Amino acid sequence: MKTLHCSDAGFDCEGVIKATTEEEVLTLAADHALNVHGVSVTPELAEQLKSLIKEEV
Ligand SMILES: [Zn+2]
Repeated sequence: MKTLHCSDAGFDCEGVIKATTEEEVLTLAADHALNVHGVSVTPELAEQLKSLIKEEV
């Protein structure tokens, strides 16, 4: 399971995005960022988020 902790991206947020693939995590993260934080994920931010994705069970 790939996970992305929203707090690792610099948001004051308990959100954790989980998906089976990195692509899916990034898609969900883009939705989350827009809906919850009002932030559009730029290609630069997407690259940054990608580096924050962890492998967890
Ligand atoms: Zn968040």
